[in-house]
Amino acid sequence: QVLRVALMGLGGYANRVAEAMQSCTKAKLTGIVSGTPSKIKDWQNKYGIPEKNCYSYDTFDQIKNNPDIDVVYVTTPNALHHNNVIRAAAAGKHVICEKPMALNAREGREMIAACKKAGVQLLVGYRMHFEPKTLEVVRMRNDGEFGKVLFFQGLCGFRIGDPTQWRLNKALAGGGSLMDIGIYAINGARYMVGAEPVWVTAQETKTDPVKFKEGVDETIQFQLGFPDGTVASCLSTYNMNNLDRFFLNGEKGFAELQPSTGYGPIRGRTHKGELTQPHKTHQTVQMDEMAGILLENKQPVVPVNGEEGLKDLQIIDAIYQAVKTGRRVDLHLG
Ligand code: NAD
Repeated sequence: QVLRVALMGLGGYANRVAEAMQSCTKAKLTGIVSGTPSKIKDWQNKYGIPEKNCYSYDTFDQIKNNPDIDVVYVTTPNALHHNNVIRAAAAGKHVICEKPMALNAREGREMIAACKKAGVQLLVGYRMHFEPKTLEVVRMRNDGEFGKVLFFQGLCGFRIGDPTQWRLNKALAGGGSLMDIGIYAINGARYMVGAEPVWVTAQETKTDPVKFKEGVDETIQFQLGFPDGTVASCLSTYNMNNLDRFFLNGEKGFAELQPSTGYGPIRGRTHKGELTQPHKTHQTVQMDEMAGILLENKQPVVPVNGEEGLKDLQIIDAIYQAVKTGRRVDLHLG
């Protein structure tokens, strides 16, 4: 049995996922949702998608009656995730939603509740949760090979271009670098340390207030504290290139990933040597694994469900609050 996927929002990332799915053995692109008729035609030609599986945002709710689609994969700008996920759930389809799952924890909770009510599963497009070198570090940590984990550092950023893009529009992005790229450090801190943080502190710096308007963060440094004293120190920015690095330090050893979350091969080493797990296109592995979760009830080593997405949103809310108040914010995740 193959997972039949409809992609919603045919932009840059949807193109990447569609390409990658061509190499999947358990997932297949069978439908599309787009507001642009010319894109629908192009995608139909490229991927052989029948007319009856093509939807606009006006006709989308009729997907309810389409037996050829198991899951809707939402890859629209951040601010639209909430409504699109709730609509897909109401149509009785499982939903995969891109990161960040929503703009804040309140929206995230509503999405989880809507999916629960509809009896469908909600997954978040956390592709790193299936990446082999990342999973090897997680395995080593679980097996105690680093000893007690003491410290994590996550550096995530790139220099963003076109000032008119939705990523720099507060209404569509919900914020700035933290929503888009800093979330990798937040999420990474949790799966690398293997625990949930209990407090955050955060500081924002802005060098270009014209490009990065009110509510759109350029650079935020934040710290996460874990129950047993482990600390994470992270940087999220839209103003520096070559910033894609995770470092985990424990009493008996370390792990270093650089690049740590980019699409290309992840590279890394630990105190025991180079990580040599072969690279596979992240989105291909992700979609095959998500097929296993949705169709066969498989449990991933690192969760990708709505509750996982919500925890990152709760941390994002707390980081913005810490920036605003200059104070430490306590976390109660879940
Ligand atoms: P994009 O701008 O390339 O694509 C967004 C698409 O949404 C466009 O096709 C646009 O036409 C469509 N859209 C639908 N309704 C819209 C509206 N009202 N306003 C504007 N656009 C609308 O962006 P992208 O880079 O593909 O990012 C899309 C989502 O995917 C974001 O949430 C982003 O965070 C996520 N993403 C995830 C990864 C990853 O590695 N997991 C990578 C890139 C992007």
